[in-house]
This record gives sequence, structure tokens and C-alpha cells, in this order.
Amino acid sequence: MHPNSNLKRKPEAIVEVLDAVKCYGTPEGGQIIAMNHVSLSVGQNEFVTLLGPSGCGKTTILRCISGFEMLDGGNITIGGENMVAVPAHKRPVNTVFQNYALFPHMTVSANVGYSLEVAGVDRQERNRRIDEALDLVNLQGMHNRKPSQLSGGQQQRVALARAIISKPKILLLDEPLSALDRKLRQAMQLELKNLQHELGISFIFVTHDQEEALTMSDRIVVLNDGHVQQDSSPADIYHKPVNSFVAQFVGESNLVRSRVESIQGGEANYLASDGLALVGPCHNFSVGEEVSVLLRPESLEVVSNEVDIAPEFHTISVELRQVVFLGSNYHVIGSIGRDDRLITAIVQDPTQYDITGLEIAKPVQFRYRRDRLHAMKE
Ligand code: ADP
Ligand code: MG
Repeated sequence: MHPNSNLKRKPEAIVEVLDAVKCYGTPEGGQIIAMNHVSLSVGQNEFVTLLGPSGCGKTTILRCISGFEMLDGGNITIGGENMVAVPAHKRPVNTVFQNYALFPHMTVSANVGYSLEVAGVDRQERNRRIDEALDLVNLQGMHNRKPSQLSGGQQQRVALARAIISKPKILLLDEPLSALDRKLRQAMQLELKNLQHELGISFIFVTHDQEEALTMSDRIVVLNDGHVQQDSSPADIYHKPVNSFVAQFVGESNLVRSRVESIQGGEANYLASDGLALVGPCHNFSVGEEVSVLLRPESLEVVSNEVDIAPEFHTISVELRQVVFLGSNYHVIGSIGRDDRLITAIVQDPTQYDITGLEIAKPVQFRYRRDRLHAMKE
């Protein structure tokens, strides 16, 4: 997907969030730490996604960058300038909100040109820039519609046009596609990427949808509970998650809490308390340590008993529980161990192995290339 993203030179930072803390008081008199020592940076022309479950602090980070909220600790700089004393309207930042926040009584043109009108830009220049912005979001000829006369996708484009008309250096997008249906959302994902390319500005995009994050981003910052969990390329987030939270949140996963039984030649034997034994790479673990072992379902193949097992593979024998057809692939679910732990394999190409011949409750062999196993401390 992003094979070279590790090799790309890191772009010069335009936004830096440094050890930022933001607390909210609750009506009950308690306190919520929405940003708990968050540090992150966004490069020129970079597409960075903040990804995490609802309530993890994504919107709060955007609000602090845009200046709608003040930090309780730490610092935010934009273009090297400390933003603490800079009010929201003076920051080179604009936000696209999830609910679009369009003025319902105003036409598309008036909505898009609003900030220019407030800034006193004359009508001719305003109209020229409205046309330009509407062109960029493919809304030519919609100038006189009211928001209620537009589809959800079109309203989203109006909100985008309104946000880019003032030529911000940074566009903040707070779950802008979540109200759209799947087909339209996928189309808009590509359009947004193209738009970012055309504008040559930085995007900070917020989503709780891991697939969207993987598709769109140069870099993903995974958050949980006000903490940054991981800040990496999409490929590293997926293949080398730093802990079980990231592994579970992004993609499908078989996660096995295991003990490092023995280490030899850069590999370890991992043993779970229910008896499941796995083999794979070992990174700076010591014998006896408790770790989380990740096997992505697509790393597991279903093989027949007769297949010669090449040395780079490890095979586990499971009892077949279920085969689920999902259109483009099959999920083959087996159980293993004293507690009937479920392990899922994804079979993309059912012609490789005749899965229709599988029988529920009978043994099945799953195998994986040992270097596809990924073990983590937490
Ligand atoms: P996200 O956008 O990831 O869903 P938010 O940044 O909106 O998360 O919220 C982070 C945490 O801060 C949540 O626990 C939320 O309930 C709390 N929170 C957000 N805004 C306020 C507020 N104005 N007052 C009190 N608590 C808030
Ligand atoms: Mg939010």
C-alpha cells in the first residue's frame, strides 16, 4: 500500500503539538484528561490521520490546533510560531465539521463566500474565488441551491469549498465522511486525497474508521484515552503495531497472550496458558516474559494434512467451527486449546484449497510463514 513510506524523507513540520495537556471539568465535579501529554507533528503537504475510538480525544486535538480550546499544558506551534496567544481567527487553519454546519437559509455561493464577505473582500474577487472553490470540489453550477436542495455528499462538498476558499495552510477535517453511505464515502476518500494534492496543503483528518485511515493517510496517529499509542506509516501501523490495542483496533487480528518459552536464532517459541504453541520472530524479549502475539487472519493458510510443510512455516491443528462467506473471501474459524480459543484464517482464493470439502468439528491445519508472526510487549 505504502511500500516506500518508511523511506520518504520526513517533511518539514508545519504543525507541532508538544506535550499537550487538556482537561475538562465534568458536571459531577470530576475531571477528564482529554489530551494526556500528546505530542505529534504534521509536515508540509502531509496527510495525517488521527485514529481512535469515540471519546479518545481526536476532536479535542483539532479544537486546540484551531484555537477553539486552550491548552492546560504544553504547546502548539504552527509554522514555527507559538500559538498560545493567537486567537482562532488569526490561525492559518480551517475546519470541516462532521455535521457540515452550513447556514440553511443561505445559498451555496453565500455559504462558500461567507468568510470572504466577513473579511471585506469585494464582490468580484469573491465570486471569482467562489467559482474556483466550487470547481475544485466538482460543484459547478450549484451556486444558487440551498443546502436542503443538495444531497449529503454535495453538502459535504460545500463545507469543503467553504473551508478551502480562504486558502488555509492546514485543513482540519473532523470525521467529514461519516454521514455518507459506503460507496459515496469511498469515492469521497479518493477525491479528498486528490484535492489535498491539488491544493498542496496539510490535512489533519480525524476518523474512527481504520479502513479509511489506512486508505488515505501518509501517516496515522493512533490514540486511546487521551494518549498517543503509535505514530507511523499505515503499513507499519498494520504490520508492526506497538501494542495489542493498536493491533486490535486496526484490521482483524488473532491475538494470543503468551509466554516466551525459549529463544534461538532470532526466533522464539511462544506458549499460551491454554497450550497453544506458536513460533516466530523475537525482538528483545527474554525467556519467561509475557507478550502479546499477533497473527493476522490473512497470514494463515488452510492446508491439507498431506501438504509438505516447508521449514519457513509453522502449522497448528485446529478443530473447524465455521466457514463464513464474505463475498471477496472466506473466514475459516477453528478452535484450539483447552479453552476452545477461536482462530480465524482468511482464505482469499478458495481454488487454492477446496474449503467446501471442510467438515465442521473435524481437524483442519492452519499454517503461517513464521516471519509473519508479530509479538509485542503489551
Ligand atoms: P473524540 O473526538 O475522539 O470522540 P473528544 O475529543 O470529543 O473525543 O472527547 C475526549 C473526551 O473529552 C471525552 O471523554 C469527552 O466526553 C470529553 N469532552 C469533550 N469535550 C468536552 C467538554 N466540552 N466538556 C467536558 N468534557 C468534554
Ligand atoms: Mg470527535
